[in-house]
Amino acid sequence: MNWIWWVLILFWTGGFAWLADTARTALRNRHQRKLELMEAQKAERLAVEAAHKPPEPVCGCTHHLAKHDKNGRCHERVEVPTAWDENKKPLRYEPGQCNCQRYVGPQPLSQVYAEELTDRA
Ligand SMILES: [Zn+2]
Ligand SMILES: [Zn+2]
Repeated sequence: MNWIWWVLILFWTGGFAWLADTARTALRNRHQRKLELMEAQKAERLAVEAAHKPPEPVCGCTHHLAKHDKNGRCHERVEVPTAWDENKKPLRYEPGQCNCQRYVGPQPLSQVYAEELTDRA
């Protein structure tokens, strides 16, 4: 075989590898940019959704509005400490009822409407 062939093959394969590498890098960069764009769009959409969503009707006692009755008393079961050690750390718990007296939290829209209607009547 002529030596010129070896030189040609060397250039060819080397050049090929370089080309493939460059193409791969370019593709990866484009893919990365696309991913970043998608992430940004997703974050934006989530922010918009959060802004339109009514706040969770959760009371100051950390329990959901649904756990409170018409008078506002909370009926969620909670653990009440019944024994303490010398450092006032609870040792034993007993199941009890949350002693929240009134729901204090965001009112869902439907309830606000209902209350306005009953006020007028
Ligand atoms: Zn409550
Ligand atoms: Zn509660």
